[in-house]
Amino acid sequence: MLPPHTASFVNGKPIESDTCFTCENPATQETICELSSANGSIVDLAVKSAGIAYEETWGKYSIGKRQKVLENLAAMIRENKDELIKLESTENGVPITIVEKFSVAALEKNISHFASWIDKITSDVIPVTSATGFDFTLKEPFGVAAIITAYNTPSLFLGSKAGAALAAGNSVVIKPSPLASFPALKFAQLAKEAGLPDGTVNVILGDHKVGSDLISNKSVDIISFTGSAFAGKQVANAANKYLTPTILELGGKSPNLIFPDANLDSAAFQSAIGAFALTGQACVAGSRIYVHEEIYDQLVDKLIAMTKLLKVGDPAEKQTVLGPLITQSHLNKVTSTVYDAVQKGGNIVLGGDRPTSELPLGYFFNPTIITGLKESDRILKDEIFGPIVAVQKFRDEDEAVRLANDTKYGLGAAVWTKDISRALRISRQLRAGMIWINAYGVVPHTAPFGGFKQSGHGKEGGKYGIEMYLQSKNIYVDAN
Ligand code: NAD
Repeated sequence: MLPPHTASFVNGKPIESDTCFTCENPATQETICELSSANGSIVDLAVKSAGIAYEETWGKYSIGKRQKVLENLAAMIRENKDELIKLESTENGVPITIVEKFSVAALEKNISHFASWIDKITSDVIPVTSATGFDFTLKEPFGVAAIITAYNTPSLFLGSKAGAALAAGNSVVIKPSPLASFPALKFAQLAKEAGLPDGTVNVILGDHKVGSDLISNKSVDIISFTGSAFAGKQVANAANKYLTPTILELGGKSPNLIFPDANLDSAAFQSAIGAFALTGQACVAGSRIYVHEEIYDQLVDKLIAMTKLLKVGDPAEKQTVLGPLITQSHLNKVTSTVYDAVQKGGNIVLGGDRPTSELPLGYFFNPTIITGLKESDRILKDEIFGPIVAVQKFRDEDEAVRLANDTKYGLGAAVWTKDISRALRISRQLRAGMIWINAYGVVPHTAPFGGFKQSGHGKEGGKYGIEMYLQSKNIYVDAN
């Protein structure tokens, strides 16, 4: 499956440079195509075009016109859904069923949802002490939003980031991961066909150097970044140069606490999905499962049984749940992490190896469950971003909370219990942006999504998401 064109898309048309990078299918190791990488002058042109669109067209549209155009875009995304699914799956190896239900569904939902917010954003009238004074606020877009995204759910990011930024009236320059460029190229084409003026949606292709050029451009008014905490810190440092506001959606090491009174079948099944969906390449992956010692053995057995139901295989097949990892180097990293954990006394109770026979070429790794790790083990500390889950014991509620919070991250956390008082008590104490009770990883597109601590700052989703791309201006009038 090939994208509509193979170069950056600036001011309504593709623009080539003389450097290219190769796109590979991680399920087969086959080269899909060569993409033309943006250079410094293409980045500058993209930001300039976005600035002009903001000043002269998109930023000047009435809210009714803006809403109509984004509704058109949502309709076109629905019409082109199958192509978007194939484009995403071919390039990042995520199985088509998962891309459809998770990433492309979120794109379509978010564009229509944010379009519906456009005529519902209100401002405030502020009380003042003066008898002749009036004070009110206006909510205004920032201008040019730079959007830099990760490889795992590229269509979803287009909805949650570009959708919110555009609905708020900003123009965008999108720098997708070089491992997942196709959805952004298709999105830009659809945006043009839907009636967004040239320059409103620009896509620049390439690696972190292109991203770095983009965020160092002084005409960028807001930066929205999704990626690792490592890269997020570099982005934050670069943004400091012009004090450009940032939204940072970074990594996680999310804990999942299971108590004896929980529905253990449901907990085991959803914990398996929570840990292994997207082959563990999910920011909210529930990669640390803590189980009360009374039910530990029982839960581990159930988790193994549930995990065995998850098919590892060809992403193009509808039954597949786990596709390949993204690259050879990522596969090497995941493999060596598991090897290291075993050397340090970890016990592999499922997986720990690559599938044999029918899937020899892609970067596949079996879903892996490890027990008996020391608290300091890096599998419990670092984001592995692969199909590896650690299952550890706890004695009581206090210990469960302490272990759950023992991380530099704070993206999601779950608690499984029928005791609602305990669930709420623990939810208060967990330091994470999203808490699930008797569920894992559910993220309604209407709810605020975002992390605490080194999982980043800022929110995506619903009114919280669109408000990130608006700034309040206060106006005082003396009517004397
Ligand atoms: P990554 O950090 O390697 O790259 C993300 C994007 O940033 C890419 O487009 C990359 O080219 C760009 N980039 C990297 N360094 C940069 C720099 N210094 N300046 C500008 N741009 C730079 O991440 P990845 O491997 O693509 O994705 C995996 C990471 O993303 C994981 O840590 C995962 O948890 C995180 N993630 C977070 C969320 C969330 O919403 N919190 C969602 C998905 C993924």
